[in-house]
Amino acid sequence: MSEPKGDYSIRVANLSKVYRVYPRPLDMLREIVQRSPHHTEFAALRDVSFEVKRGDVMGIIGLNGSGKSTLLKIITGTLDKTAGEVDVRGRVSAILELGTGFHPEYTGRENILTGGLCLGMTRDEVMRKMDGIIDFSGLREFIDRPFKTYSSGMQARLTFATATSIDPDILIIDEALAAGDAAFVQRSFSRIRQICKSGCTALLVSHSTGMLGQVCNRVLWLDQGSIHMIGDPLSVIRQYDLNIHHLVSAYRNPVRTGVEPGDSSRAGASKSEPGIRPMSEFDPATLYQAAPHSVFRAGPVIIERVELLNQHGQATRLFSPWDSLVIRAHYRCDGEIPDDTLGMAMSLNRKADLLAICHGSSANPDSYEDTAHYNRVPFRKKPSHAGVMEARLQPLQLAPGEYLVSLGLLPGVPGNLQFYEYHHFAYEIAVHSGGASQTAGFVYPLVHWSHNSSNGVYESPTAGAVKPADWREHLLQTTQEPGQYKSINEEIDSVCFREGGYPNGWLRHQHCPCCLSTRIISAFLKFNLEHWVCGECDFVFLNPYPPPQLLDRLYNAAYYPAVRRFVELPKAKAGREDAALFSYPISVMLRIIEEARSSVGTGRWLEVGGGIGSFAHLVQQRLPDWSVFFNETNRVSLDAAREAYGLATLSDSPAELKARGLEFDVISAIDVLEHTPDPCEFVRQYLQVLRPGGILVIGVPRFSRLNRLISQESSSAVIPPYHLSLFNEHNLVRLLNRAGPFENVRVWVDGIPAFTLLDFVKTWQHWDIKVPDAIQDQPTGVQVTPYPEHVSRWLNALGAAYELTRDLFLEVDGGSLLTVIARKK
Ligand SMILES: [Zn+2]
Repeated sequence: MSEPKGDYSIRVANLSKVYRVYPRPLDMLREIVQRSPHHTEFAALRDVSFEVKRGDVMGIIGLNGSGKSTLLKIITGTLDKTAGEVDVRGRVSAILELGTGFHPEYTGRENILTGGLCLGMTRDEVMRKMDGIIDFSGLREFIDRPFKTYSSGMQARLTFATATSIDPDILIIDEALAAGDAAFVQRSFSRIRQICKSGCTALLVSHSTGMLGQVCNRVLWLDQGSIHMIGDPLSVIRQYDLNIHHLVSAYRNPVRTGVEPGDSSRAGASKSEPGIRPMSEFDPATLYQAAPHSVFRAGPVIIERVELLNQHGQATRLFSPWDSLVIRAHYRCDGEIPDDTLGMAMSLNRKADLLAICHGSSANPDSYEDTAHYNRVPFRKKPSHAGVMEARLQPLQLAPGEYLVSLGLLPGVPGNLQFYEYHHFAYEIAVHSGGASQTAGFVYPLVHWSHNSSNGVYESPTAGAVKPADWREHLLQTTQEPGQYKSINEEIDSVCFREGGYPNGWLRHQHCPCCLSTRIISAFLKFNLEHWVCGECDFVFLNPYPPPQLLDRLYNAAYYPAVRRFVELPKAKAGREDAALFSYPISVMLRIIEEARSSVGTGRWLEVGGGIGSFAHLVQQRLPDWSVFFNETNRVSLDAAREAYGLATLSDSPAELKARGLEFDVISAIDVLEHTPDPCEFVRQYLQVLRPGGILVIGVPRFSRLNRLISQESSSAVIPPYHLSLFNEHNLVRLLNRAGPFENVRVWVDGIPAFTLLDFVKTWQHWDIKVPDAIQDQPTGVQVTPYPEHVSRWLNALGAAYELTRDLFLEVDGGSLLTVIARKK
């Protein structure tokens, strides 16, 4: 190798890597024996030359198989080259694969030590840097847990923090940051920039061109082993993105008039961008005439004209934050009208670095839709010979700056990206600050779609001029076999208020049903039903509560029988051990079974309530030598349990069971106690038929301390009028001891966090649940009122924060499932 010249860290000259490919394993032998070639050659890299200057951050992009990883492996010395020269100057720290060199069984702290030693640090050096690495990773709370328990994002954080701690001369990262969350990725970028300022060089491989646009000062595009283009990030990324669109869309008849993307732009080519005219050349007057070379057209739906309008319907390129952005595509259809409904997709990219700010597609099913309804949503209809598709972003949640708008029309088929016509980065808009200082974030845009054609105007229900009542009607009308009520709120309204006489005729607690204290006060309303709390034991309960005949009606009206019949029964009959049939994770169910088996051996198990008997069935399967009985007073559930599982059923009350002289070794009631107004009495009744030494298992949703203090009616554990009692671990144990005598009382808390930040928002005021039917065989959420704009913004932010806060709330406040196991004295 010649003596290195110039101020570079990495110099690659005429590098090639050729793999021999033998069609069959025998061919390798034949080649040796016969001394004639029996292989074909595959060039992973061909004649690649470039230099990376000291302090450069170079991004590498390319499709899978373009040679990116091969190049990095040769530079880091883990793979041999076939020809050419590679000169690397300095200490290299590489993250080629997530968790490389990290032992899954070791804790995070132990892995920092071994990882640091592998990178060439001394033990003292690692120990000195330990705190800094832990701080940067943000994993202090988890650092003494095994690495294998980390999520991929946490693994990425620890790997990156360790790899960058050695003050490398050259940092090489292959896709590892993709697993990190947005906040960590941003922090990683600042660290990369910071260490590159002090002369370090970085090579980053990523599929996220937006990410590379932010951090790199040069980008190299590899295509089939050769350098396709190298240069300033934005030019290369624009060309690359354009090329990707070209590839995925497989246009039959593109009308691009510019140069084929990338064709003339070989390595080291000029700074001009042949595929795209610089935005500054656009005359505002002709702004909405898309640059022809950014238009891909396949037909038969053709975009004739595009308008960008503000909230007053004026064409403009300048918007204020919280204004509306209306993107209107006037189309015509040349030739036969396609069979699929017409869809529209749009995206916004920040002009400075092409970072994708948001994507929207009318072909995305919304959360309240399913496949059965997809094409019945009113704004999804076939194209006509001429019409207008519109996307309205309202409010326009963009920070001040300049953005590029892309849009296209395509078949309204989820997942289909075969555009009829697509305009790539074709329109520029600017958002001015309006005097306010704001910082940018990532948002889900509220996009409101509409389609105005010869068949009239239809609008999507998601935002803007929503007509929620109509939309709700539309969904509810699809009921093929109309029950008495179409939605659960209707049922509650009717049974509890219009006919049930609330609050007159309902029963009142004079003291806490759990601890008998008279220090009880009214705490909050949900669905206008009053909830009280006990000042002594924190027990929360519906007060007044429905009389027994009314409760009976609720469980035998529309919703519960429909769930048994259309949701649970078909699943059970299909023989699947479907987690959806249990309110608990199967792992917890199995733990209960194992616990009972190990303390009782064998005997008689009475499972009380619990849907259509899925848990009783599971017990019977796991404990074949036991006698399992399913006890339930609701006829619909009993019939379903026999039909689905052939279970032995008992419809008797506990007093009747006792009169028949029956006794059991285990009695379980999962998600039953919260449905009873007097849970202590319920436990006492069943205790009569539990033999001394027998096991009682109670499972309930957990109404945690934070739920009780903060979310109250917004907590998903509060479901009146069905949930009459809300427990935490303390008052449930207290209640058992009052109903007792018990010994060996044990409590488990499981499940997802009982409290999340989303519990601040009264989502239940905006949603209803459709009663399932033969067509719509899942309980479907129906949005009944749109969220105010500021609440939508909150929901976005809280949703994004969930990943970050989930573990925290799980740790400080615990999970959503509460199980108590106790032995009768
Ligand atoms: Zn109490």
